[in-house]
Amino acid sequence: MISETMYTLGSKRSCIRDLFEYGLQQAAIVGKENVYDYSLGNPSIPAPAEVNGAIAAILQDTDSLAVHGYTPAGGAMSARQALADDLNRRFGTAIRPQNLFLTCGAAPALISVIRALAVEGAEIMGIAPYFPEYVPFVESNGARFVEVPADTDSFQIRLDELEKRITPHTQAVIVNSPNNPSGVVYTRETLERLAEILTRKGAEMGHPIYLIADEPYRELVYGGAEVPFIPTIYPNTVVCYSYSKSLSLPGERIGYVCVPDDAADSEALYAAVAGAARSLGHVCAPSLMQLVVARCASVRPDLEAYDRNRTVLYEALTSYGYQCAKPTGAFYMFVKAPGGSAAAFSDKAKEKNLLVVPGGDFGCPEFFRLSTCVAPDMIQRSLPVFRELIGQF
Ligand code: PLP
Repeated sequence: MISETMYTLGSKRSCIRDLFEYGLQQAAIVGKENVYDYSLGNPSIPAPAEVNGAIAAILQDTDSLAVHGYTPAGGAMSARQALADDLNRRFGTAIRPQNLFLTCGAAPALISVIRALAVEGAEIMGIAPYFPEYVPFVESNGARFVEVPADTDSFQIRLDELEKRITPHTQAVIVNSPNNPSGVVYTRETLERLAEILTRKGAEMGHPIYLIADEPYRELVYGGAEVPFIPTIYPNTVVCYSYSKSLSLPGERIGYVCVPDDAADSEALYAAVAGAARSLGHVCAPSLMQLVVARCASVRPDLEAYDRNRTVLYEALTSYGYQCAKPTGAFYMFVKAPGGSAAAFSDKAKEKNLLVVPGGDFGCPEFFRLSTCVAPDMIQRSLPVFRELIGQF
């Protein structure tokens, strides 16, 4: 017999993948230049030169057995030390290598933390719009995913709605800022008010409510927007980080979980994260990449291309009448669908080979997502299609 749950997860294709594959098929028929594919969040700027330099230097200088061998389950201490040093320099924290568990990107980081907290009857909250994978990450561990409805004006957090949904079973709230799909960065004020609620409700419930900060886009911000380091605002925060977007390394699978000492029961929580990773076989993240990110700990991406795409698209679309919160981070825009149904808009756009992701799986069926990590000339070619479409609704 085969697990029905796993079968369904594995055989149901994501809408994003469907659109992407449709785009490839259409490109073969109508020509690549006539397909406007805004579906995938695959970085469109190359990894910084320092990354390739580090790979070459490591392969040249380091003993091959050490480069390609197993490391401790949570990663090489030297790599964890380098990453902790960088965090401490930037955020004035006192993170130790023992607080970090290196992972194959943010996805295994998240699922390990969720699994570590998935006690009997656990509820884990996600704030719409959210990364759709949170739902299977939570539910496949036997916990209940509780959705906080979106603030569709500013895409900050509807704190009143969040507070109403806290029960004695609430174990954690997942926050993702800069946000996929809205591109919005939660302000310090939003996070401070959230911290106040979680502190008060945690005391009332008699157990900590953790924040799980999903931060693959932490370094991707524009116009000087501040991305507060959430553990400095709310101590019961566990950070899930990834180099997939910040160093354009999504295929290399490297990131980490950080359980700071100030988090409640931090040693036990770290051990449970390690146990969850072990139970899933997610131990010993790629060893070459551990060495690479250690050497590149202070390297930041050049965001000019993403920033330009964001500005061009935002200005053009709003001038045609589309409504959208101006993104200040990540590489997405979340646009209100003319006519009210993003699924209907996406289908209509698809007929013109314009591929936009309807927001239902993000918890906002009236919005569609554009990944703005695309070629600038594709944006220019797609603008007349956006203009024509809004006229049809
Ligand atoms: N969280 C969010 C919000 C994402 O957008 C993604 C990837 O797109 C992930 C987590 C997973 O990232 P990774 O590739 O590091 O597993």
